[in-house]
Amino acid sequence: MKNNRRVIPAMTNHTAAAEKARLAPGVWTMVSVYRGFQSGDSVARGIRAGRVSAYRPAGTFEAYPAMHDDGTAVWARCVDGVPDITPMPQTLTVRVPNYGTQRGYEGVRITTVEISSKCQRCGGPRGPLTAHHFVKDGTPLVCDRWVNDCGHPDEYSIVLTEAQRRVDLAGVPRPKDPQVKGVEGGQFTVPVDFIALALKTKPWMRARAVAKLLEDLGHRQAAEVIRTFAESNVTGYQTSAKAAALYLIERDMGRPANATWVDGRIGYEADADTSTTTGDEK
Ligand SMILES: [Zn+2]
Repeated sequence: MKNNRRVIPAMTNHTAAAEKARLAPGVWTMVSVYRGFQSGDSVARGIRAGRVSAYRPAGTFEAYPAMHDDGTAVWARCVDGVPDITPMPQTLTVRVPNYGTQRGYEGVRITTVEISSKCQRCGGPRGPLTAHHFVKDGTPLVCDRWVNDCGHPDEYSIVLTEAQRRVDLAGVPRPKDPQVKGVEGGQFTVPVDFIALALKTKPWMRARAVAKLLEDLGHRQAAEVIRTFAESNVTGYQTSAKAAALYLIERDMGRPANATWVDGRIGYEADADTSTTTGDEK
């Protein structure tokens, strides 16, 4: 299990990935896909900080981790010698035709929504946006169209669902001192609430111990997710049960754990040499 995990990052050919990116300055290219968010996040930080030699000197590359069908993809671009490079936005505001969900409804209206700037399948950048004018029942309308370089098409109906999900999540602020409480309707609601209960008597409990307990209770998937999280986490064996619970909560909310985004651009400043403190228990 442990060895299996280690294989993925080791297979990343950073020399080739960096070379490819250098040949197309300013263009985002996928470096690799990692199983855990922590691994991808750590690699992206390493690329930006120049800790991975192929990307030196530091500041030559931008990089970010993003959701991928198979885990967490790391995307990078060479910004060396590229004047006035446009920062990668966190979100896009798009106008989308909305046909409604009512059966038999044939009208259409344009809904303006906020979505991720990244493809939901592979994490590659979406767009660019172009305005599309059309007429429906004599009414002139305009919506946005875009083609993703990664090749994954975005269907409007799915885009609307994504936007709704963002709205739903926006009502759930990320607290400074997060409480361990299961997300209603989440995949890990019961295991998280169990950990919360266990933490009341043993606040120092480790992730591994809680994974074992969950497994004994039949929550095998939660146990497995926690073990993977602890393995890929820099704190490793020391990873706390609380951090593991918070990770499960983030998963249930559809958010990557500990992602440090700054409005409009990736939080480079915050990344300066924080690799050893990445993770939990902040
Ligand atoms: Zn894609």
